Amino acid sequence: MPLPKYAYFEGEIVPFEDAKISVMTSGLHYGIGAFAGVRAYWNEDEEQLFVFRAYDHFTRFLNSAKLLSFELGFSQEDLIEITRELLRKEGWREDAYIRPLVYAANESIGILRLQDLTPEVTIFTLPFGGYVPNEENTHITFSSWHRIDDNAIPARGKITGAYANTAFIKTDATRAGFDEAVVLNRNGHVSEGSGENFFMVRDGVVVTPPVTDNILEGITRRTVMELLREEMGVEVVERTIDRTEVYLAEEAFFTGSAVQVAAITRVDHRPIGSGVMGPIASGLRDIFFAVVRGKNEKYRHWNTPIYEAVKAK
Ligand code: PMP
Repeated sequence: MPLPKYAYFEGEIVPFEDAKISVMTSGLHYGIGAFAGVRAYWNEDEEQLFVFRAYDHFTRFLNSAKLLSFELGFSQEDLIEITRELLRKEGWREDAYIRPLVYAANESIGILRLQDLTPEVTIFTLPFGGYVPNEENTHITFSSWHRIDDNAIPARGKITGAYANTAFIKTDATRAGFDEAVVLNRNGHVSEGSGENFFMVRDGVVVTPPVTDNILEGITRRTVMELLREEMGVEVVERTIDRTEVYLAEEAFFTGSAVQVAAITRVDHRPIGSGVMGPIASGLRDIFFAVVRGKNEKYRHWNTPIYEAVKAK
């Protein structure tokens, strides 16, 4: 993986190798921090890099910080401006990933009162392609781990420490030979993937768990719900999902900034529907990839251009 050349660190853009923290950093010890994962898409025709839904990602980032009682002193616009500057300095002419992180920067042992912590924001960007190898043919299992509960570490905040839960889920699924796992909440209902939101199709209706089932409130989730309704005329329902409904689904797919839209075609060695990517997942992928790359005029407000326009649309 190519490394970034620059990072925003302690209030300024510095060479990446200078963005270093102490081993005593509280955020590192206790997992107290929050992050975002944002994609920028290269549009070859316009020679332009578009950040997808930057404002919404930074809103969730600021909300995650708010859950931690962190006051950052940045607006979404400030964070977008830093990101623009970083991306321009890097000059990526390919798809890229943006990683904003806020962490408890105190260098002392035992400070765990959130109001006593000093948050520090860092951002860096790097080139990034696909996330899962088989985006059209994902084989999943159900994790034996539970999703973290809202009253333990809220899944709706993208909190660093919560990703130990993700790591347990992902590790066991891939060690057992699956591509990914769906994780259940304490009530035994479907929550989400290790780092993706979950959708299935039953009787032609797209169903996804509600935000009260311990999910991260995904930006891609919100995006595909709108695209399914507006562009494909498909009904989308948010409701609790039982495990065995997934075995009987006609189609299923994951969404997320990293995974984008990935068709799930098998669950625990059982085919989902006919066992190949279905028409809803396939149609949605086509629309989604045009939208994120800035090729759909109707959704251009989601595409933040980074470079000076050199070519007409
Ligand atoms: N759930 C979890 C646990 C995640 O880490 C992610 C990735 N950020 C998602 C869902 C998808 O969210 P988004 O579409 O905002 O990337």
